[in-house]
Amino acid sequence: MDFEFSETSQAIQARLKGFMAEHVASRDPEWQQVVERDGIFPPPFIDELKAKARAAGLWNLFLPHLNDDEPGTRLSNMDYAPCAEIMGRYMWASEVFNCSAPDTGNMEVLHMFGTPEQKRDWLVPLLDGRIRSAFAMTEPDVASSDATNVRTTIRREGDEYVVDGRKWFITNAADPRCKILILLGLSNPDRPESHRRHSMVLVPMDTPGVEVVRNPTIMHHLAHEGHCEMRFTNVRVPVANLVHQEGEGFAIAQARLGPGRIHHCMRSLGQCELALELMVERAGRRKTFGSLLRDHGTVAEWIALSRLEIEQARLLVLKAAWLIDKYGTKGARKEVGLIKVIVPRIQTAICNRAIQTFGAAGLTPDTPLPALWTWGRALQIIDGPDEVHLRTIARLEVKEQAARRPKAQ
Ligand SMILES: Cc1cc2nc3c(=O)[nH]c(=O)nc-3n(C[C@H](O)[C@H](O)[C@H](O)COP(=O)(O)OP(=O)(O)OC[C@H]3O[C@@H](n4cnc5c(N)ncnc54)[C@H](O)[C@@H]3O)c2cc1C
Repeated sequence: MDFEFSETSQAIQARLKGFMAEHVASRDPEWQQVVERDGIFPPPFIDELKAKARAAGLWNLFLPHLNDDEPGTRLSNMDYAPCAEIMGRYMWASEVFNCSAPDTGNMEVLHMFGTPEQKRDWLVPLLDGRIRSAFAMTEPDVASSDATNVRTTIRREGDEYVVDGRKWFITNAADPRCKILILLGLSNPDRPESHRRHSMVLVPMDTPGVEVVRNPTIMHHLAHEGHCEMRFTNVRVPVANLVHQEGEGFAIAQARLGPGRIHHCMRSLGQCELALELMVERAGRRKTFGSLLRDHGTVAEWIALSRLEIEQARLLVLKAAWLIDKYGTKGARKEVGLIKVIVPRIQTAICNRAIQTFGAAGLTPDTPLPALWTWGRALQIIDGPDEVHLRTIARLEVKEQAARRPKAQ
């Protein structure tokens, strides 16, 4: 087993760390003021940082199979993992390198399934970072962790598809630069197989009948890019906006969510490292009852457990990335489920310990810990709740064990 990343990845990691220190960490106080406190989004300096990152060759790091004429580094998923971890330390940093969700997953879909016209109109501006995008699956009226329940309709009328329904938690929909939605809806309700009744269509945000209803807070935090509730009333798009084929929505979703899920986990590891660093730093300078916090057994154990959990989770994330590189999303199904469950759990556990180490200060926005905990908590639901992943893992385990058992003569 080779634990070394490719030379290209190592070089990019070094440049990325330098860029993060020089341009992102130094800008974070400005982000906190302008975006979080003044509510100005996107902040005026983001385009300048994006241009600098692109000029430094730190652009579209996530897509391994880019064509020659498309901008990006073509790193494998395995080689991208440490880069995503570096970017993940600041919640807003990935966009600087055109590597933020849900654009990354949407670019993957368009890259894999888009027609030449769809690529020209939407993939090219996304790869250039000129526009942003959203993915609209979840609905307020049905349990969307079983996506076969999705009931927003996509009805064909002549040369158009007509979309009607409600969606919510649509990340990016409040961003004024968000120009396109990939929407999953019910197009073929009469098909016998429940997994072949839904399709994906491209819905430009400025289509009449598309409405952003509200942007709810997540654990009291207002994300300015939005996790929005939306209404679609008699929304008409040309049939050319169908992605791939009618009834293939789930096949596309499977392909989309593999790398997308592991990207979240990779970024989370960076956030876990940051929480642990903050915990160690604080525990090394505060004293109670004559000892530094780090010398109290309980706190020492928190530090050790956090390191142990990060190392375990990172190896599993890298295994999942390696499997996707070698065998595709399908070949990594179990490992993708495993990391989707374990990484957000360790993120909340580590952040919780770090918050406790800070005492009351840990609950304030003076450190990023509350935001990091909140994100870890949300990730236990985003892209499917833990219970659905555990169900998949258990089913695969049972199947694999059955296959291993000697057959009765
Ligand atoms: C911050 C954030 C951003 C999001 N961004 C997007 C986005 O951009 N686009 C989008 O379409 N969606 C997005 N989502 C929505 C997310 O994907 C859904 O919330 C998720 O899939 C769960 O669907 P649901 O909320 O309808 O929960 P439900 O389906 O109602 O499930 C509720 C609960 O039931 C339990 N449950 C479900 N199935 C099982 C089972 N088999 N066994 C045991 N228990 C079970 C789980 O505990 C689950 O949490 C986002 C969510 C959040 C919080």
